[in-house]
Order: sequence, then structure tokens, then C-alpha cells
Amino acid sequence: MPTETFEFQVEARQLLQMMIHSIYSNKDVFLRELISNASDALDKLRIESLRDDSLDADVSDLHVEIEPDREARTLTVRDNGIGMSREEVVELIGTIAKSGTAELLSRLREAKDESTAEGLIGQFGVGFYSSFMVADEVTLVTRKAGESEGTRWSSTGEGGYTVETVEDAPQGTAVILRLKPEDAEDQLFDYTSPWKIREIVKRYSDFITWPVRMAPEAPAAEAAEDAEAAAPEGEEGEEPAASAPPEPETLNSMKALWARSRDEVSDEEYHELYKHISHDWTDPLETIQLRAEGTFEYQSLLFLPARAPHDLFSQANRRGVQLYVKRVFIMDDCEALVPEYLRFVKGVVDAQDLSLNVSREILQQDRQIQLMRRRLVKKVLSTVKEMMTKREENYATFWREFGRVVKEGLLNDPDNKDAILKICSFASTRDKERLVTLAQYVERMKEGQKHIYYMTGESRTAIENSPHLEAFEAKGLEVLILTDPVDEVWVGAVPEFEGKELRSIAQGEAELDGEEEEGEEAKAEKERRREEFAELLTWLGERLSDEVKEVRLTSRLTVSPACVVTDAGDVTPALQNLYRAMGQ
Ligand code: ADP
Ligand code: MG
Repeated sequence: MPTETFEFQVEARQLLQMMIHSIYSNKDVFLRELISNASDALDKLRIESLRDDSLDADVSDLHVEIEPDREARTLTVRDNGIGMSREEVVELIGTIAKSGTAELLSRLREAKDESTAEGLIGQFGVGFYSSFMVADEVTLVTRKAGESEGTRWSSTGEGGYTVETVEDAPQGTAVILRLKPEDAEDQLFDYTSPWKIREIVKRYSDFITWPVRMAPEAPAAEAAEDAEAAAPEGEEGEEPAASAPPEPETLNSMKALWARSRDEVSDEEYHELYKHISHDWTDPLETIQLRAEGTFEYQSLLFLPARAPHDLFSQANRRGVQLYVKRVFIMDDCEALVPEYLRFVKGVVDAQDLSLNVSREILQQDRQIQLMRRRLVKKVLSTVKEMMTKREENYATFWREFGRVVKEGLLNDPDNKDAILKICSFASTRDKERLVTLAQYVERMKEGQKHIYYMTGESRTAIENSPHLEAFEAKGLEVLILTDPVDEVWVGAVPEFEGKELRSIAQGEAELDGEEEEGEEAKAEKERRREEFAELLTWLGERLSDEVKEVRLTSRLTVSPACVVTDAGDVTPALQNLYRAMGQ
């Protein structure tokens, strides 16, 4: 096939512009991204070679290699992993297929200052494209395992890119960065310095399970000089002997963080692992460690992200718990390990006693896996509970980002319903700023109040303007304001909390609490009014017979003359809207 030239999509072009002009100040992370991609590619090849005996690929020495060239001012990151076909290069590298990119860009345009912009980039992650923060030309040469022809992709990041077929590419992928000349004099951005490279790999990629090696620099004199210069820094003390031919140096320790005790590992190290797993650029909110010994031994590190991904609700959203067996990566997104309503949890589970070629189907049915899953869920829920009292701000962030999803568990995970209810918090009529938990609500219930009142609706304003609320306001009864779509559904599955019935104020003839014990006098008054208005009610009932079931007197309203209620157990107006929106 001839050399083809392609234009970048509009979105890709805009993103690249942002990389080229580098609004992200910490440029070092480009190397983390490239190593992370290389590591993924090695995982994929290992798995593929297990699955397919006939795959013609060498898996005897899987590794990442970093090769700085000070003379040419290039930096090459090479792996002998799965590689990409020509079509894959165009699809994966040439376009930004990620669904959130358009959204990212529109939010970037709205972003007021640079730190917001950086945060957004962090949230969406730009992976491979971050190379353009440090390079003015990027070339990628790749050959897919099992294929004979390779592909070369090249771009300056401006306008377009070229793709051509190459005959002699080794299996795997090499990314060659031509470093920006304007950074040449800046020590901070000297990405050809072995010292700098060591430092970045140690900081960001130490736990990568494949060896990350650095090729010795071409002119021997310089390499020796560098080794000397770095000697006081090098903790591993693996400098090659001066006389021996230079050997590649392994830069990462490859130690599994989840297997080490918590006090041995710094928060930064945990956070880097999180970023590698999640492809998020932002630190996680919480790190959760879990281990079990005995007959079914496993270790786990779970993370609660600080921000919801843009595609939290799309079908494509993959869960991010990776499964390892005895330190060997088995699969991404092991859905058997976390329920749908915790799909935002990221992390690693490393089991000792599973077979290396377990399939997803087997996992779904495995009793040990189910036990493990139950424990992971409990641990996540109890961690959130702990955050509520010990790290209130973290809890508030967590709930803002993920509350909508967690509430799905009230429907789907009956076993943990109570634990989930305890970590929920809700807006309420009492306080515009602060959310209230059910326990707090119950604690401050008025004397004589027996129910937990709520109203569902589209927005706080819509609910506040609802005539249903009037009498509750007048009586000083607190009403929970539920505005998430999922609220319409879970309330039906949760009849009570700590013996207090949950009750919609828009349904049935729910008398206001405190009114039941009304005196004889009030009863007589009610009766008198019923007679007084009997004729009007009958007339209204006949006129509106197509629209309503019944017209009745109420003591609930204080300002509005009338309002519509549904029978207890009927579909609420908001739920009707929800169904309508879903086309039902
Ligand atoms: P992400 O890693 O979040 O998917 P990237 O922009 O880093 O996003 O990479 C895009 C895609 O390009 C990857 O998902 C992968 O399919 C492919 N890719 C990138 N680097 C490599 C590599 N070294 N080997 C094989 N495929 C790669
Ligand atoms: Mg990546």
C-alpha cells in the first residue's frame, strides 16, 4: 500500500493544539503514558499467545525499552508487545475515538483558567497525544504479532499525519519522539538525560510488571560519565562495570504494590498505580487495601476516583477492576468482581489459587469469586461510611460524583440495601446547602412525625414550587428533595428506614403526621365542610371525569386552590415523565 496522508479530525486537531502549546505544565507524564501503553500491549500479547497456540510471536522476553539519543535529540519508547495493524493505527492513533473528546473540548473552551483546563485534561486523559507536549514530530513504527508487514505513522501534530507500510519492522511498537528544539537548553525538559529518565520511570512507572529498560547510550564515553554522575542517586547499585560491554539497565522494581504492606508504600506510589489502571490523570479520592489469607488467598487494592468519568451512564462504560493471578495480569474490567452500581471503582485483585486461563464465564460462576466480590462490596461500602465521619469533604465529593450510581444498588443489591441506605445523603427542604442522611432526618423529625417524607421531581425548583409542599412547609415538616432519575425507581424498593416508612408527599391521601390524633371538634368541622362542598365536588368530578379518578377536599394546601395527586402505588408524575422520555 502506498503512503497515505490523512487529516486529523477537528476534535483531534484541537486537542493536539492544546498539547503542542502544552497547557499541562507537568510534561514528564508523557513518558508515563507511553510506558503505560507499552505495558498494556505486552499484557495483550501474553494473553493472546495463551489463547492462540498458533500465534507466531516471540514472548520469551517481553519488555519496554527506552532509548535516548542525545546527538539526534530523539527519545524512543519501544515494546515487543501486540503491535497494531495498519487499520488499527489509523483507527486508534489517527482519530480520537474516545466518546468524551467532544465534551472535553467544549468544556475546555468554557474553562476560565489554566488549572481548570488542566483538571479537565486530567479527567479525560489524552494518552498517546501527550507526546506532543515534548515532541515536534512523532513517528510510530509498529507490527502486529502474527502479521508480516509493519506500519509507520508520522505526524508533527499540525494538520495531518502520514501512514505507510514498512517491510522490516520488528514485532511490537516503537514511538520515536523528535524532542522540541526550544526545550534543548532547559534542564527540566532534558528527556535525553538518563538521569532524568530514571527519575521519571521510578516516580511514575515503578510498579509496571514488565521490565522497563534503558538502552545504554551510543557513545561509550558519555554513558560512563552518566553512570558516574548518577551513582550517588542510584539506590539499586546496578551500574554496569566500567570494562564490561554496556548492558541495558532495568529502571523499575516491578514490585506489586498490592502485595506490600501499607506502611512500605507511599501515597504517590498508590496514586500512580491508580492512574495506570484507570487512565485518569487525577489522584484518587481513596485507596482501599484488602487481603485475605488462608484457603483462598488474595490481595486487593481498590480506588475511589475523585471524579466521575463522562461516560458513567453509557453502556460502554467498563468497570476498572483488573484481575491478576499470582502477579500475572489476566484481564481488565473483571465484571465478576464488582456489581454494576460500583462500576466506578478501579483497582487490582490478585488471587493466588485461580487458574491462569480462567474465562469470564467461569469467573461469573466461581464460588470463591462470589465470596471475594461480596467482601469487596462490603469493604467499599464501609469505607464510604467511614469517610462520612472521618473525611467529610471526601465523602461530599464522592457523593456528588457517584451518589446517582450508588443508589442503583438499592434496587439491585437487596443484601446490602441497609448498608447503602446508610451512606446515602439527600437534598432537603430544611437546608439548601447541606445534604441530609436518613439517620439525621430521623433524628430531627418533629414530635409525632412517623414518616420520612420525600418528593421526586425534575429539579429542586420544580419541587419547591409544587403545591404538594405547601402544607408540609406550613407545618415545618422536612421533605427530602429527590431529583435524580434513579430516585424515581429506588423509592419503590425501599419501604422504610429504621422502622420509619418512606412516603411520597405527592401520593395518596397521606395525612400529615400529627393530624391523626385530632379532637372531636376538628372532626366535626371536617364533616361540616365536606357537606358544604359536596355539590361542587360532584360537579367538578363529572366535568373532569376523563382526566381524574376523584376530586376531594384537602387540608394540605395553604395557598394553591387545587393540586393533582396520584394514588399510593401509582406511577408518580415524574416517573410518567421518565417513562415518556424513555419512549414507553
Ligand atoms: P488509552 O491508552 O487510554 O486507550 P491512548 O491514547 O494512550 O489511550 O492510546 C490509544 C490506543 O492506541 C490504545 O488503546 C491502544 O489500542 C493503542 N496503542 C497505543 N500505544 C500502543 C502500543 N505501544 N502498542 C499497541 N497499541 C498501542
Ligand atoms: Mg494510554
